[in-house]
Amino acid sequence: MTSPNDNEPAPPAALDAASVERLVAEAEAAFAAAGSTAELKAARIAHTGDRSALALANREIGSLPPADRKDAGRRIGQARGRVNAALASREAEIVETELAQRLADERVDVTLPVELGPQGAAHPVTALIDKIADVFVAMGWEIAEGPEVESEWMNFDALNLHPDHPARAEQDTLFVEPRDRSLVLRTHTSPVQLRALLERPLPVYVVAPGKVYRADELDATHLPVFHQVEGLVVDEGITLGHLMGALEHFAREMFGDIRLRWRPDYFPFTEPSVEVDLECFVCHGESVGNPDRPCRTCRSEGWIEWGGSGVVNPRVLAAAGVDTDRYTGFAFGMGIERTLMFRNGVEDMRDMAEGDVRFSRSLVGEAR
Ligand SMILES: [Zn+2]
Repeated sequence: MTSPNDNEPAPPAALDAASVERLVAEAEAAFAAAGSTAELKAARIAHTGDRSALALANREIGSLPPADRKDAGRRIGQARGRVNAALASREAEIVETELAQRLADERVDVTLPVELGPQGAAHPVTALIDKIADVFVAMGWEIAEGPEVESEWMNFDALNLHPDHPARAEQDTLFVEPRDRSLVLRTHTSPVQLRALLERPLPVYVVAPGKVYRADELDATHLPVFHQVEGLVVDEGITLGHLMGALEHFAREMFGDIRLRWRPDYFPFTEPSVEVDLECFVCHGESVGNPDRPCRTCRSEGWIEWGGSGVVNPRVLAAAGVDTDRYTGFAFGMGIERTLMFRNGVEDMRDMAEGDVRFSRSLVGEAR
């Protein structure tokens, strides 16, 4: 028997109906056995990919005798359709199962208590500065700020601290190079008060908390960088009585119900000047003359030094162009770290410089 197709290879077995049916069954079984998207992907490549038995069978159609091609084409086409339908059906099932599993795994119970991760805390000095600012703002005062690099004139001369003044030598000043520019890291916040006087219309009620710098060694009671709060009032008819009233209020806000003691002292920019002492908050004076109950905090003196204050020296007011016949004022200054030590029982100032968040957390609740 001769025909144009004599030389063509025999039709592959894969194209007969039974073989095609078997390939479809194998594919359906593989899809059904796949339990995950990854497994289904492997089954899809094996049974519908370019190298799958059905794809190879499809390619063989062209080599069939023309009379057989139609049937084989329909058979393979239908088989591939069934396999694709089985694949799509199984894929939908797996997607749904996996989504349900994921929702179950990632379920969040919004009623559970929230576990917060480690967080920082406001530094106790910052928190106390905020508290102090609140006290004075509530009295209608303004917060004043100034540069930390200050001219020698503003830091010393204008405040009655002339070059030969002993107080000027006592302050171990950090000078900014080059020296001929006459700049220093401010040794106190007093220049902020002076700037407030120069910049604002009278009357002036300002409080200036801020960083100051001294060439001190770091130890339990000294920091080379620390904070002061200074206050200044310039108005008509201001007396020492106004100063005492303001500081008594400030002290109550800081320490609760506490007694103050006023001692005459000397400061270059106030006249008269008074030192403000706090009643010892540990022994309340009971250690005085009582050797059986010594107090380490006040060294059994019953009082601890808090800060300096006084009526502003008219020469300082005059340097700022204030009419000293009409206006008088008072000023005060306290160390903020020192206030924090008394207020919260901090014994070592170095704790305030080290930045350990546990220290901040232990105090900041109280300082707020
Ligand atoms: Zn005491």
